[in-house]
Amino acid sequence: MQPLKIVIVGAGIGGLSCAIISRKKGLDVIVLEKAEKLTPVGAGIQIPPNASRIWAQYGLLEKLKEFSVISKANQLRRWKDGSLLCSRSIGETLNPQWPWLVIHRADYQKVLVKECERLHVDIRLKSEVYDVDFENTRVLLKNGDVVSGDVIVGADGLWSTLRTRVLGHASPPQETGDLAYRGTFSLEALQTLRDPKVDELCLRNLVTMWIGPESHAVFYPVRCGREFNLVMTQPDDLPAYIKTKQGNLEEMKTTFKDWDPLLTKLLTAFPSVLKWKMMHHDELPSWTKKNFVLLGDACHPSLPYQAQGAAMAVEDGTIIANLLAAYQDAKASSLTHPSLPETLKLYELLQKERTTTLHLGSISNQRLYHLDDGQEQEERDLILKNASFEDLPDGSSEPFIWIDARYQKAILGRDVVGDAQDSWEQAVRNGSR
Ligand SMILES: Cc1cc2nc3c(=O)[nH]c(=O)nc-3n(C[C@H](O)[C@H](O)[C@H](O)COP(=O)(O)OP(=O)(O)OC[C@H]3O[C@@H](n4cnc5c(N)ncnc54)[C@H](O)[C@@H]3O)c2cc1C
Repeated sequence: MQPLKIVIVGAGIGGLSCAIISRKKGLDVIVLEKAEKLTPVGAGIQIPPNASRIWAQYGLLEKLKEFSVISKANQLRRWKDGSLLCSRSIGETLNPQWPWLVIHRADYQKVLVKECERLHVDIRLKSEVYDVDFENTRVLLKNGDVVSGDVIVGADGLWSTLRTRVLGHASPPQETGDLAYRGTFSLEALQTLRDPKVDELCLRNLVTMWIGPESHAVFYPVRCGREFNLVMTQPDDLPAYIKTKQGNLEEMKTTFKDWDPLLTKLLTAFPSVLKWKMMHHDELPSWTKKNFVLLGDACHPSLPYQAQGAAMAVEDGTIIANLLAAYQDAKASSLTHPSLPETLKLYELLQKERTTTLHLGSISNQRLYHLDDGQEQEERDLILKNASFEDLPDGSSEPFIWIDARYQKAILGRDVVGDAQDSWEQAVRNGSR
């Protein structure tokens, strides 16, 4: 029997992950990418345990570790003086086999592309898709090509064209009211500041966050500690039609001038920054149509305030690949099994509630991080300082998901492959009754 042919539109982290795992599961894969060259956008990215677990299962974790740092904890600090509010190592210590990694996006992408090459995935650059023919399971490209397959996966990101086709109307992402300055420093640039506190910060293998009125900052090492990533958020002042823009360093320094002197010192070493509008999207009515399915930012972009956007895209790709492989195996053995559209719906059922929870969790973290100084902030700080990170005995929740052990374990300790297998087996059992 011929293997299933999967056509993936978009070679971001989600599309490449789906391609790798599909190939490893014995499916045929074509990736169509509109860019001429695969260049990562942005600087650092965190790979939380739910994603590193997948890479451990599919043999890429050791490769990723060669380029990253294992973060020991996530720390929240007060914006004005950098005093420690809370240190969380709940995800980092969940299971040492699934570390919390921090990596440069270029390195993450390089590892994924190399793996695609090793597995002979057909990645076609300069291949912009503008339409989908749902009846015949094929996509139409701007260069005139038509590519057909058994399944089409729309992994075309935040501004997804294919989302529009599934919904039948335009559905752009919505503004969140925040923007981010994003950039990296080299270790040498930070060492030239000759500041013992900066040197000490560089030695911490941590994700450090300063939280303050309407803004927060995130700092962590990448490239095995040879470079550092800094993201600073603030209220969005970009016009609606501008998504990203070269940032003005002086303007940024003025915005954060009253923050922790350690942070303002870091800013003096910033070579350049990008200003980035932060967007998200409410839950879509459907992610699938016939043999077509959306994944990653194309169907659930959220504020990146839990470092889960790409991790969710990796989860999506893993589930799709596992379910399609199960479908292929069942078809080969002539067992009663769900149809292809039903198989894709199983993925949507597994991921929609989870990604909606994360979307809402990111919005609640936005509020947690950005409180104005005052009574509410003082109460928050007290709660953070007293966080136990233990399951509450009566099943109740902490006031903030950031310190809620049950929530964090559910997000970070998820067994995606097991869940995909269970949902397939249950669907087969239900169908054969
Ligand atoms: C400031 C910031 C920090 C973040 N930090 C983290 C983090 O620490 N951890 C984390 O997990 N996530 C993080 N995220 C979120 C994460 O970056 C995204 O969720 C993730 O990259 C989405 O991956 P994707 O593959 O779905 O989409 P993309 O990475 O956007 O990939 C889409 C691809 O499709 C291609 N494409 C688009 N249209 C077409 C077309 N018509 N035809 C062909 N190709 C097309 C694009 O060129 C692109 O290559 C962060 C986001 C931001 C903004």
